[in-house]
Amino acid sequence: MARIERRKSVVAEVGGVKVGGTHPIVVQSMTNTDTADVAATVLQVAALARAGSELVRITVNTEAAAAAVPAIAEQLEAEGLPVPLIGDFHYNGHLLLTRYPECARRLAKYRINPGNVDIGKKHDENFRTMIRVATDNGKPVRIGVNWGSLDQALLTRMMDENARQAAPLDADQITRQAIVESALESARMAEEYGMAHEAILLSAKVSSAQSLIDVYRTLAVRCDYPLHLGLTEAGMGNKGVVASTAAISVLLQEGIGDTIRVSLTPAPGGDRTEEVLVAQQILQSLEIRSFTPQVSACPGCGRTTSTFFQEMAGQIQGYLREQMPLWKQRYLGVEELRLAVMGCVVNGPGESKHAHIGISLPGTFEEPKAPVYADGRLLVTLKGETIVEDFIRILNDYVKTHYGSKVEQASVK
Ligand code: SF4
Repeated sequence: MARIERRKSVVAEVGGVKVGGTHPIVVQSMTNTDTADVAATVLQVAALARAGSELVRITVNTEAAAAAVPAIAEQLEAEGLPVPLIGDFHYNGHLLLTRYPECARRLAKYRINPGNVDIGKKHDENFRTMIRVATDNGKPVRIGVNWGSLDQALLTRMMDENARQAAPLDADQITRQAIVESALESARMAEEYGMAHEAILLSAKVSSAQSLIDVYRTLAVRCDYPLHLGLTEAGMGNKGVVASTAAISVLLQEGIGDTIRVSLTPAPGGDRTEEVLVAQQILQSLEIRSFTPQVSACPGCGRTTSTFFQEMAGQIQGYLREQMPLWKQRYLGVEELRLAVMGCVVNGPGESKHAHIGISLPGTFEEPKAPVYADGRLLVTLKGETIVEDFIRILNDYVKTHYGSKVEQASVK
């Protein structure tokens, strides 16, 4: 694992999951179902949890949604998936949390957006109500600022003050400052209303990578609350994945961030769990946490005229995904396994030697044989029609011999 010095923060506990300090950076996600639809929400939360989401946020926007929360929590528990649920509140959180005490009790954390606790007049009163419900129930809160719903009164005040300066800053700089101030001021008020310092997490999401980095660097210096990272409205497909990875990675590398969420827009009917896998992959690529064995595969080039090695890389990746739920229980540390599936002998043997197990397939005009390396040494050379099956057999043996004993050792301690 990479040695990255984490920023010092207090530790918040969210439904038994510790966030902050030196605890592992937590992966979280959010549903896009109608929370009032208990069956659909349970199904999606379960899928996200099985994919590895350690916290799952659900929208609590209506009376029907608030009324559904206890049933959702119960059904997940009955399925053996007691993942902590976070309620996402906007505008009417103070009403829903007081009218539906069982909803308040079953949620593990409340997300409060200070920009729309209730626009204008009753902001403080409503915010105070939400904090009181949280403290009464012993729940932490996330003060979650979003520049799409930034507290307009605060922003206007800061813009006006800036305009009076001899050398005013540009509007974008003031917006970034307002985002930070909104988060810190709301946290200060929450503490004034009785919230424990350790029960507050902060986020300040924007949709520009550079702004996100700037805002979080400032927050990291100015407070010791655990920070929830995420690029908001990251977008669809490659754009969403790359933009989120770029922004989040810079901060993680600087030790900033205690929990992450990747806000991807799924294609219609797309798989919501992709955001969990991307978040895990960011952490694993940076060598911060390991979740699943990694397969290195070369991109292929003119030396590979068949698609065999691409298919093989895909088959191995799929096999690992299928095995991991069982392997995780049985083989301690198997998530750190590294494999290489390479297209020819140019980089194949070299890359294979850097992996725990690697195979170098024959390129065009090369002899039809595939050397397999284990721990840097040539183990065997495969030939014929059963290369994939033979390689999977070698993989299984390797996992059993190298990680099987670790479970026994761990259970002896
Ligand atoms: S390892 Fe061989 S097939 Fe793969 S990209 Fe390099 S030269 Fe091409």
